[in-house]
Order: sequence, then structure tokens, then C-alpha cells
Amino acid sequence: MKAEIIAVGTELLLGQVVNTNATFLSEELASLGIDVFYHSVVGDNPNRLEELLTIADKRSDLIVLCGGLGPTDDDLTKQVTARHVGQELVRDEPGYHQLKAFFENSQRRMTENNLRQTLVFKDGVSLPNPNGLAIGIFYQTAATSYLLLPGPPSELQAMFLTHAKPLLLEQFPQEEVLLSRVLRYYGIGESALVTELADLIENQVNPTIAPYAKPNEVTLRLTVKTADEAQGIKQLDALEETVQARVGAYFYGYGEQNSLAETVVGLLIEKKKTVTAAESLTAGLFQATLGGISGVSEVFPGGFVTYSAATKSKLLGIDPGLLESYGTVSQECAEAMAVYARKQAETDYAVAFTGVAGPDELEGQPKGTVWIALASDKGVSSQLYHFNRDRAYIRHSAVMAGLNQIRKELLN
Ligand code: ATP
Ligand code: MG
Repeated sequence: MKAEIIAVGTELLLGQVVNTNATFLSEELASLGIDVFYHSVVGDNPNRLEELLTIADKRSDLIVLCGGLGPTDDDLTKQVTARHVGQELVRDEPGYHQLKAFFENSQRRMTENNLRQTLVFKDGVSLPNPNGLAIGIFYQTAATSYLLLPGPPSELQAMFLTHAKPLLLEQFPQEEVLLSRVLRYYGIGESALVTELADLIENQVNPTIAPYAKPNEVTLRLTVKTADEAQGIKQLDALEETVQARVGAYFYGYGEQNSLAETVVGLLIEKKKTVTAAESLTAGLFQATLGGISGVSEVFPGGFVTYSAATKSKLLGIDPGLLESYGTVSQECAEAMAVYARKQAETDYAVAFTGVAGPDELEGQPKGTVWIALASDKGVSSQLYHFNRDRAYIRHSAVMAGLNQIRKELLN
């Protein structure tokens, strides 16, 4: 089973949009045991798309097209593919009713071009769009299968997972499937992690280990190809155990999407603990990160952004004398911020950030100098960090370090 993915959209060629749909689809198809041999991107141009389809027909059994199902004239994927396979475009009735209802509910006028989104192949399978209006299509000729999906990632992913994936599983049952497991680490760099696992990575066959570095963290993807799912899970368990024996101290969670912040919020909810923050150099980034996680309101009532010395005194009640004696980038200031924030917000924990985001030094301290304090019913503790790179990276590093301090405290 040979598949290829064609992303349609001039914005992709211009570099304005990253082709994340191809990443998602490749991973999903791999998990179904379908080999993806080509990725291509073509602009919103009917002749070039037609040329690409002609090439793809010769080399692939399954052609997945994404993008260009929308209402405007440059959205031409359906029209070109329909012509290519000799299919008539007809209106998808459920899609048409959804479209009409959408415009009625939002009290907006539906322009004629919106009807294009509900066009499907006369002899194809229509794929409903759980997150949008453009209907997807699955169509098979004797030699080739075509899957047409919308461009916006939230629409494409939902349509694929709920409608296309079950269809592909049914049409192309595979003997062997790929099972993967993602392990996430904080506090160890990619090169150090890879060094710890060098022999395992060098000798890998099945399962395989793939490290991936993200800002301030590293993930490891363990993948096994197997005809027997239970056996595959056992192989992954065994490999995970070997890996964790070496680097488990830095492990914080599983999964592609799970973040350190999600892990921390999950722990706070589980342990029924609340947290607040007083932020100087991060100026709300820590709290915004928490705010990005659903369910956080249970454990986070709010907090403080205290950028200047005066605001630290005004909002948190920190003695101006302390700031004068020790400076704002000091252990004393960080700890006072955490203690006062905890008191003001009446939470179980308070984390405080003060430091130098750069590019210039502050109070004679170099950029990247950061104190992070954590207050709890046990008192207050703090840590000094020396982060590097640019301002954005330093602030992000501080947020991650603060999250990790809370995580460690919660696991104690
Ligand atoms: P719409 O109804 O929104 O027009 P569409 O199916 O016509 O949907 P496009 O017009 O091709 O899709 O793309 C809509 C938006 O989806 C793009 O502006 C871009 O933000 C995003 N997008 C499109 N293709 C991709 C891709 N391959 N990877 C990531 N994002 C993409
Ligand atoms: Mg479009």
C-alpha cells in the first residue's frame, strides 16, 4: 500500500504557512500501516495540480489531498480532481443543511460561493466536517483511492480521525501496524539524552527510538512495527524500562500533546491544590501558560504581574527597604514575592519569578540570571538559574523551570 500526500495552497509555497497537515497525515497513515512515499505541495493552480495528480496516479495507491475545499475561486481541489477522475460534482444534502443552518444561526448572509463547500463526487463517499463547512470526499477507481480533506488543521484532523480513518481501516486492513509511545523529558538536553542512550539508538531495529528536541525539553518516540498488538505493547514496555533506567530522572509525562504545564495542572487537580504566581521578568507568561490549559480554573484563582519595584511593593506589600538592600534580582526579593503572593491569593502554592530577561544586564547581573521561589505551607525555597540565548528563550526557560519546581514539590 503506497500513499502520497499532496498539500494544495499557494500560501504553503510562499512560506506563509507550515505544512503541518502533512506531518499529521504521515503519522496517522503510518499508524495504519500505510507507507507514505511522497509529500508534495502545489499552489492553487489547476494545471499544476492536474499534472501532479497524473504523476501520483502512476506511483501511489492512495492519494491524500489537503486544502482547497473552501468557498473561494482559488479553492479548486475538488473541481480539478473531479475532472481528473471523470466524476460529476453534486451537492451533499446533509452538508448543505449544515451550511444553511450555520448562516441562519450566526445571522449572516450566505453568499453563493459557499455552496462550493458542499459539493462532492457523485459516486464518492462524503466525509462530514465536525469543525467547519467544507465536506470531504473519499473516492476509489479500480487502481487508485483519493481522499480530499480541508486545509485548516483543526478541520482536517477532526475529519480524518472521525470519518476518514475508520474508512481507511476498513478498506485497507493491514497485517502490520505501527505502535508508538512518546516519552517527555525536562531538564536534560537532547545531546546528553542521546549520549545516555547511544548504544540503544545505534543498535535499534524494531522497536526504534527517535529523539526530538523542543525548546527546553526533549521527547523520545518509541515505535514498534508488529502484527500482534499485545506483543508490540510488551516490546515497547521493555524498551521503555531500559530507557527509563538511564534517563527516568528527567521524565515527566507521556504523549505528543501533553506539556509540562498540563502535567502540573493535572497534578494540582489530582492533589486538590491551588497555585498563584508573582511574575516580574515573565510578566504574565507563566499565568498565560496555565490559562492555556482547560480545567485550570479549578486550581488557579489568579495572580500578579509585578514588573517594577513600586508595583512589587504596592500589589504584594513587599518592603521597599528589602528591594533597596538586596535588589529586585535577588533571592530575598523572589522569596518575598512568593510568600506575599501566596498570602494575598490564599493558595497552597505560590511561585515567583524575578530576573534579567535581557538583552541588557540589570542591577549589575548578566542577562539570564533568574531567581524562582516557591512558597507553600512548608515555607519558601528558591533556586538560582543562569539561562542563555535571547529574551524570549530566557522567559520561556523561566516558566518551564517554575513549572518543574512545582511539579517536583507536588511529587514529594
Ligand atoms: P477554507 O474553507 O478555510 O478556505 P480550504 O479547505 O480551502 O479551507 P485552504 O484554503 O487551502 O483550505 O487553507 C485554509 C487555511 O488552512 C490556510 O490559510 C492555512 O492557514 C491552513 N492550511 C492549509 N493547508 C495547510 C497545511 N498543509 N498545513 C497547515 N495548515 C494549512
Ligand atoms: Mg480556502
